[in-house]
Amino acid sequence: MSSHPLSSDETKLRLDRQILAVLESISDGFIVLDTHWCYSYVNRAAETILQKQREDLLGKNVWEVFPEAVSTTFWTKYYEAADTQTIVEFEAFYPPFGKWFHVRVYPTESGLAVYFQDITERKQIEEDQLRLAAIVASSDDAIIGKTLDGIITSWNLAAEKMFGYTAQEAIGKHISLIIPVELREEEDVIIQKLRNGQHIDHFETVRVRKDGTRIHLSLSISPIKNKEGQIIGASKIARDISERKQLQQHLHFLSHASKVLSSSLDYKMTLQTIANLAVPQIADWCTIDMLAEDGSIEQLVIAHADPKRVQWAKEIRKKYPLDMNATNGIPQVFRTGTPVFAPFISDEMLAATVVNSEQLTLLRKVGFTSGMTIPLLVNGKAIGTVTFALAESGRHYTQADVAMAEELASHASLAIQNAQLYREVQQSRDQLDIILQGVADGIVVYDTDSRIIYANEAAAQMTGSTSVQTMLKAASTGIADKYEIVDEQGQPFPRSRFTHIRVLAGEREAQATIGYSNTQTGKPERWSLVKSRPVLDERGEVTMVVTIIHDITERVLAEQRKDEFISMTSHELKTPVTSLKGFTNVLQRRLAKQGDEKSLYYLARIDAQLNKLAKLISDLLDITRMQTGKLTFQMEAFDLDVLMCETVENVQATTITHRFLIEGRTDARLCGDKDRLGQVFSNLLTNAVKYSPRANKVLVGLSRDQEQAIVSVRDFGIGIDEAHHQKIFERFYQVTDPEERTYPGLGIGLYISREIVERHHGQIGVESRKGEGAIFSVALPLLAEGK
Ligand code: ADP
Repeated sequence: MSSHPLSSDETKLRLDRQILAVLESISDGFIVLDTHWCYSYVNRAAETILQKQREDLLGKNVWEVFPEAVSTTFWTKYYEAADTQTIVEFEAFYPPFGKWFHVRVYPTESGLAVYFQDITERKQIEEDQLRLAAIVASSDDAIIGKTLDGIITSWNLAAEKMFGYTAQEAIGKHISLIIPVELREEEDVIIQKLRNGQHIDHFETVRVRKDGTRIHLSLSISPIKNKEGQIIGASKIARDISERKQLQQHLHFLSHASKVLSSSLDYKMTLQTIANLAVPQIADWCTIDMLAEDGSIEQLVIAHADPKRVQWAKEIRKKYPLDMNATNGIPQVFRTGTPVFAPFISDEMLAATVVNSEQLTLLRKVGFTSGMTIPLLVNGKAIGTVTFALAESGRHYTQADVAMAEELASHASLAIQNAQLYREVQQSRDQLDIILQGVADGIVVYDTDSRIIYANEAAAQMTGSTSVQTMLKAASTGIADKYEIVDEQGQPFPRSRFTHIRVLAGEREAQATIGYSNTQTGKPERWSLVKSRPVLDERGEVTMVVTIIHDITERVLAEQRKDEFISMTSHELKTPVTSLKGFTNVLQRRLAKQGDEKSLYYLARIDAQLNKLAKLISDLLDITRMQTGKLTFQMEAFDLDVLMCETVENVQATTITHRFLIEGRTDARLCGDKDRLGQVFSNLLTNAVKYSPRANKVLVGLSRDQEQAIVSVRDFGIGIDEAHHQKIFERFYQVTDPEERTYPGLGIGLYISREIVERHHGQIGVESRKGEGAIFSVALPLLAEGK
């Protein structure tokens, strides 16, 4: 602010017409205030600036019209001019108008003349410039100006920090000051682009610092134009991306390393690979040490880009083994389980780790600059260490490097644990194998593609394989070619009925008796009972199938011998029984004529027993026939209802305790062996009477649907527990219950019945609960129309 002594000319400021005309035409504001601070003149420009009509101002007190101006710069400066009678000039912001003014206040005899100019625009430009300058100065990015010839014209603080040159050192120099020799051409390309008015955005490159080290940068360069729009230079913003680059490198290394770590269970090999990966991007030297069983430190891996130096380092380590009790370096990390990080390695630090001056000389030669040792922790204990060291590259590790190394170490520790676990599992698997190999039953484990994944010795023997190995290589069933698999009837056994296939198809347990038939002789050589069960995962899905093969050759052979015996004896018995029956009949007729009632009574009992005997023999013969596939059927069309009435009538004749009640009708014509089916129903009716000693009726239900006729026999007897429902249809199976009284029989009636029904393409089944009676149902297909 300047103030001048008041000149006599100025004090005699006259507003004659000419001056008035000038004042009216100027674009700056001009007002005159009298000694009471009231407006005595206001020019046109002042009207606009003050946003008031002249009439509203003239004669009014300025502080009353503009109360907001009180206690602003305006107020103080106006008073200053009035008090000191000097010209006061100032710049001030008037908030109500949001404008900056340049004001000059001239004291006059009769008050003050005030001249004011709106300088808001200029102020803004100035402020912008200031702001820009502040930004440039405080920016973390280096901002550099240069001419099109590459001469540096400006150089901010960040540039000083980034490149190590002060502004003084850099300005006036050529930009090649910071460009690596091999990248000089890059500058030509950049300049060319700038001359064409192009911008360069986020161009990643490398520059050199004053100390010769390299720095990764992202450059954005824009042309600088003069007022005429000519390109006269360039401004360059350089951002340090070394950290980002390093991060990328770390990530790249880590992802590579973790892939390697998870790919193999041989952790020694894996760690070697990791060390090799680390050199030279991450480290100049990398060593991995492990705790040996005797508590000493064993160097597992040492890596360096130059194999000769690796050899050399190994020899040094041999000569100077690590002392577990040392208070620094690798031993310390082993003991404490915490990393050791040395961003800078000093000579004193080296001296502290050596045992003699020879070792120190050797270490000095390597020229370590920075290093870190990270523990490989398993359950909180260091079982190994990874050491990264920098030497010839002259770099230094940062905290970010330590974080990366720790991440790597945790991956590596996991891999080591995995490998250990695997070894343990392998060991217990080996033990299990020894046990399973000793088991007499064959054990085969299938995967979900029905491939064999495990088999023991016994399984290989039973299935005819020369060894477990050949069995594992064999096709899905694992059964040797010399055998054909047959069922109990000697029929080929389809693959779909193999127990492991049935379990894979959804059954929870599957069982089958199979014979190994010699393909040359066509005779079964061995028999086995095969049982399969699934192994489920936690979601209940099948992961594998375990099949147990139990050799039953001996049992089957014994059964065959028994069958042969039964077959023979029943044949032998049949003839005497037939003649006994014949003679009994002759005797009956004779005694009837003589009227010997008592003898007739005994004869009737003999006859009834003979009937039972005959039925037994014929059942046994049927079984023999079924066994040898010789049970024949006389097929003919017949009326089922008629057959049922006859059968019920016959059985009714043998009992006085129970009444048979037929309910409904089938109206069905069937094609089948009438006598054999009659045998089935007769069996069911007899059983119904036999197993309901306290009841007095049996219900015979007849019905049909579109495809089949259904006969059901319902009794109100002892019933059958669900556990026996399947088994009662097996040969010689009888329900034995210590509480129940025993019922005579052989357990073959239902077995024969099922065979007969199934040979007629029908089904037989039971519904019952212990103590609640039983319903046996037979469903038989109807004779197709027109047959
Ligand atoms: P058997 O009656 O000669 O013993 P079966 O083959 O006819 O032989 O029957 C097999 C077994 O089924 C019988 O021993 C008996 O335990 C059971 N059983 C058959 N029918 C009935 C029934 N109606 N009620 C209760 N149990 C029965």
